[in-house]
Amino acid sequence: EAAKVAETDPQAIGLGYKEDATKADKAKFPKYAAGQHCGNCQLYQGGATGYGNCALFPGKQVAAAGWCSAYAKKA
Ligand code: SF4
Repeated sequence: EAAKVAETDPQAIGLGYKEDATKADKAKFPKYAAGQHCGNCQLYQGGATGYGNCALFPGKQVAAAGWCSAYAKKA
């Protein structure tokens, strides 16, 4: 099982990554909008639930329910 990205990882902090998208720092990241989460982000390579790979975090997995400021809606 791949390691999960910790919210305390320096890169996660830099990107404002949260395991729970609703906990995103809306003051710091006003681009966040309800409904955005890793599971519907272009950079996510995983299932709708649980954890999956993200192109920005090689070798670790992010939560489908998570979010970071590099979010890009899946086309
Ligand atoms: Fe989640 Fe997308 Fe950020 Fe990766 S880039 S952590 S999939 S929101």
